Amino acid sequence: MILLGFLLFVTNCGIIFSQGGHFWHITDLHWDPDYKVTMNPNTVCPSSSKPVLNPGKWGSYLCDSNWDLINLTLHKMKTFHPKPDFILWTGDDTPHVADEKLGEDVVLRIISKLTKLIQAVFPGTKVYSAMGNHDFHPKNQLPGNYHKIYNRTAELWAPWMDHQSIAIFNQGAFYTEKLLGRTDQRIIVLNTNLYYSSNKCNVGINDPAGQFQWLEEVLSNAMTAKEKVYIIGHVPPGFFEKKRWTSWFVEHFNNRYVEIIQKYHSVIAGQFFGHHHTDSFRMFYSQSGSPIGVMFITPGITPWKTTLPGLENGANNPAIRVFEYDTNTLEVQDVVTYFFNLSYANAIAPLWQLEYRLTEAFKVPDGTVKSMQTVLDKLYHENDYLQKYYKLNSVNYDLAKCDMNCRIDQICAIKEVDFAKYEECVKRESSSSALTAQVPIISFLLLSIVLLQF
Ligand SMILES: [Zn+2]
Ligand SMILES: [Zn+2]
Repeated sequence: MILLGFLLFVTNCGIIFSQGGHFWHITDLHWDPDYKVTMNPNTVCPSSSKPVLNPGKWGSYLCDSNWDLINLTLHKMKTFHPKPDFILWTGDDTPHVADEKLGEDVVLRIISKLTKLIQAVFPGTKVYSAMGNHDFHPKNQLPGNYHKIYNRTAELWAPWMDHQSIAIFNQGAFYTEKLLGRTDQRIIVLNTNLYYSSNKCNVGINDPAGQFQWLEEVLSNAMTAKEKVYIIGHVPPGFFEKKRWTSWFVEHFNNRYVEIIQKYHSVIAGQFFGHHHTDSFRMFYSQSGSPIGVMFITPGITPWKTTLPGLENGANNPAIRVFEYDTNTLEVQDVVTYFFNLSYANAIAPLWQLEYRLTEAFKVPDGTVKSMQTVLDKLYHENDYLQKYYKLNSVNYDLAKCDMNCRIDQICAIKEVDFAKYEECVKRESSSSALTAQVPIISFLLLSIVLLQF
């Protein structure tokens, strides 16, 4: 779909003019300040534990983003869409290196440098920013109470926040505001790092920082006020689609998150998260199984190949994303992803280009819950769509065939955020896949028996 432009809505009250809007979503920049192009493969970047052969000006798949890549990316955003309504930035700014190589000051310096770059390229643009599990020292250990890093980060982001947001942020790195000050629209910025299983600060705590209770109050008030809400955060609930049984939230936190979405889905117009570095989405369902919500997982800017054990080819090309949305209802009208082919950039030219438009690639009218359920149905039933999605999942990096196990991992992660339902899905799909694989053998045996009769 092209940008909506002016649309006319005829309602009982008369005619309302609505303008299609758009906003950027960027995530997982993971700047590695020490990246350098050198002949010694062991000193290219501290973010790689392996020797880096043939490092390029724009980076390496084994390393986190270098400054050239990040700087170019921000300026390309400005070229593609210089006046977004706002920008979502969902965290993870520092490189994947041992804590000993960082420290509070280094982490804050990196957050500061990236904040200043965004402010310089998009002066006056509202940015809603969530902290990632790498935006803290020690990494992942974000507490559910006041911390100096929260306080310093809020100071850096103060031009983007109102006074009340800063006060709340200091106590747990989450906040809410009216979206762009619009009377009936709201944004909620969550600190879901509090629920991350690698976070040892909140073990045994039912509701770290009281964020869940706060979230319920905000959503309940939004319901009363008939607001529409966007929720953003870094670590998403549910499972990683590239590695079976890999989840991020502690289970009871995951349950609570799903329950809240089920309870307040009527006001939630979209959820926007990062952390995976891959391109995917998550569906949410009512108790009776109707689709009620969608979470978009935006791919990262860092190309860094994950070191998750058992995952062989987990790198991605850098990506950035524009959401086109209805400024009246906050409904997502389209999702436009741009990508940077890192191999091509290093070998030939640094080219940021359109990767795909959701509506064109998957032949759906928009990015609403109903349409994203249609996308999931297509992935489930049509292998060509699954294969296309799989290529996009790594931003055109992993071009392998999505085999039977890959299909189960991808489909069940998208469909089931709930732990128990995910397990059921994996078991169900595994047994039906095994059955499908056996059909030719059974058919052959039956045919042989029939032939033997003659
Ligand atoms: Zn990350
Ligand atoms: Zn992360």
